[in-house]
Amino acid sequence: MAETETRARTQRDGRGLGIRLPFRIFGIPIELHFTFLIFIPVLAWIISRQLDFYASLFILDLDINALETGVPSPFVLGLIAAIGLFVGVFLHELGHSWVAIRYGIQIRKITLMILGGLAYMERMPREPRQEAWVAIAGPIVSFALGGIGIAVLLAIPDASPQAQFIVGYLGYTNLFLGLFNLIPAIPMDGGRVLRAFLARSRPYADATRTAVAVSRSLAILMGLFGLLQFNLFLMFIAFFIYAASGQEMQQSELSQLLKDVRVKDLMVRQVDTVPSDMPVSELFQLMLEKRHIGYPVVDREDRLVGIITLRDLQQVDGAGTNRLVEEIMTPASEIVTIGEEECTIDALEKLTRNNLGRLVVINSIDEMVGILSRTDLVRALQILRLRGTLFQALGEKPGYGSG
Ligand code: ZN
Repeated sequence: MAETETRARTQRDGRGLGIRLPFRIFGIPIELHFTFLIFIPVLAWIISRQLDFYASLFILDLDINALETGVPSPFVLGLIAAIGLFVGVFLHELGHSWVAIRYGIQIRKITLMILGGLAYMERMPREPRQEAWVAIAGPIVSFALGGIGIAVLLAIPDASPQAQFIVGYLGYTNLFLGLFNLIPAIPMDGGRVLRAFLARSRPYADATRTAVAVSRSLAILMGLFGLLQFNLFLMFIAFFIYAASGQEMQQSELSQLLKDVRVKDLMVRQVDTVPSDMPVSELFQLMLEKRHIGYPVVDREDRLVGIITLRDLQQVDGAGTNRLVEEIMTPASEIVTIGEEECTIDALEKLTRNNLGRLVVINSIDEMVGILSRTDLVRALQILRLRGTLFQALGEKPGYGSG
């Protein structure tokens, strides 16, 4: 089953379309996506209709007649197999997560969905060794589960055909899960191991470029093969790998462009503020005059008490224009801040993850020193990208001009 941890960078932490289990494991919330909830009975039904196929696929010499007429019924058997399969997927994700946590990376949640599981990580490990270990941990768990399943199968030759079927099904599917994820194509675990391996001897961006080229070639081969065989599953996986590896490339180019740019290089220092007791009607007037839609709010002693943007004002109804800024603003406790010395890649991640237009920049003693807006960041990116292309054409290497 496929998973893309990189998506953790671009998706918000908002609650997904699913249910959250009432407990956590290693402190990680677990979510069952609605596609998973629909898929489980469907998968159970598919398995129950193809018991003989699976038995032959997994080289299990079973009494199919006993399977199809015995207790539990084929559908219940399919249900146990389907749920067991996803427990395996979950443990695979937990393997990635456990190693990531040991490297100090937070896991926001693990979601089970139609095509497998997804561990949402706060950030991806940037150190090749760490990336490799986080990536390989999932397949290691799957191989261990598969090994246990097959060992148990061999140890219980006299068990009922039902028990043998379940244990065999889980043993072989976990082995398959481990193997499938080792395909050396980003965003599969194998692709991340490949990139980490390449990054030992060359810059990270080069390693990504090579790994993405390998991924795309594999995706094209897989797609062609799928087309010849008319295998929809293969074609879908090929498309998925092609698209996701492109995303990885973009992400890596962004990191490359922004890697030496600090927040303080791009932030606006002269920030217009508004007083907390300003009426909303006046604020509208100010926004119209300046065509500027977000302001830090300060109290009479000039201390930052909140931030107000056009988005906050959308919640004000007609009668609310007499209200004061402080009643509508986002209070200081909920403001997302970033340190002036931090890298702009982290700023971009924070903006995206929280779906914000601007971040308040603070110094080492938590004072506001500026604002970094998404617009400024995007403009800087456009400039850096064009400059990079032009200088590359000239055969020169531009550096980012910060002291
Ligand atoms: Zn994995």
